[in-house]
Amino acid sequence: MALLLPTSTAGSLPKPSWIAEPEKLWSPWLLEGDQLNEAKQDALRVSLQEQVIAGIDIVSDGEQTRQHFVTTFIEHLDGVDFKKRETVKIRNRYEASVPSVVGAVSRQKPVFVEDAKFLRQQTDQPIKWALPGPMTMIDTLYDDHYKSREKLAWEFAKILNQEARELEAAGVDIIQFDEPAFNVFFDEVNDWGIATLERAIEGLQCETAVHICYGYGIKANNDWKKTLGSEWRQYEKAFPKLQQSKIDIVSLECQNSKVPMDLIELIRGKKVMVGAIDVATDTVETPEEVANTLRKALQFVDADKLYPSTNCGMTPLSRQVARGKLKALSAGAQIVRDELSA
Ligand SMILES: [Zn+2]
Repeated sequence: MALLLPTSTAGSLPKPSWIAEPEKLWSPWLLEGDQLNEAKQDALRVSLQEQVIAGIDIVSDGEQTRQHFVTTFIEHLDGVDFKKRETVKIRNRYEASVPSVVGAVSRQKPVFVEDAKFLRQQTDQPIKWALPGPMTMIDTLYDDHYKSREKLAWEFAKILNQEARELEAAGVDIIQFDEPAFNVFFDEVNDWGIATLERAIEGLQCETAVHICYGYGIKANNDWKKTLGSEWRQYEKAFPKLQQSKIDIVSLECQNSKVPMDLIELIRGKKVMVGAIDVATDTVETPEEVANTLRKALQFVDADKLYPSTNCGMTPLSRQVARGKLKALSAGAQIVRDELSA
């Protein structure tokens, strides 16, 4: 990428209130059938336009066609029964009623490929597409078939690879895998988490990213963060192995987080999407605050490998707040770009 400090978002953006109840996770659709399909495309267009107007360089669909970053992908697979629900603890943090794996999992047809083609038609800017990572997928399910988290993760990795290859063919420039679970299950990350992620990107020519965060700005996550103490060193556990992996980009939560910035040194050589926007507050950052976070990160990432981004997705925020945050991200990145070229 020729442009220095290209901006992007971690993933989801708020949906318009005419398609789903705003400021809510798993918000049900307000339309159905053909009307819903048309509305999803319209919402995608609006979301894209808002990113473009805010000056975001690497754009996305804002996840407008999905209800949830993990569940929607799984809904399209065979082997998972959404009516057979069990209560599990997601990321050891909060209880949720989740679907059950009842047989061999498989993908009969593409999940997001048509949406990605549609986005590709709308813009010439680089596009990034988010998929859930294998470990985060298994953590959102009750497994009544494989009875092994690792086995199920390998199966999902194969399926993700099928989808990723088709997204690449549809013209996606960066495929991102969301792995908030990497911040929780450290032994598994190193035993097979990163290996299954590498299986998911096998054979891809486009760039690949892994997004590791402390979650959406919802109460369960905010409460959990309060228990993590004054220094968040979770990244330290996965970084050495990630540095050795084939993943090109690592997307991190840095704004208002207690992650010591120098941990980024452990992934030296990788491109780093630095979260410079806090998604757990309605307060819109000033461009100077964004610039400050990017300057700190520049001590540990080469300028040509620094990608300013958001801490996580912005689905739970209001559209107005999200727009303000996107603008602040662009303006903050521009301040640092000007400094670098001075
Ligand atoms: Zn996230």
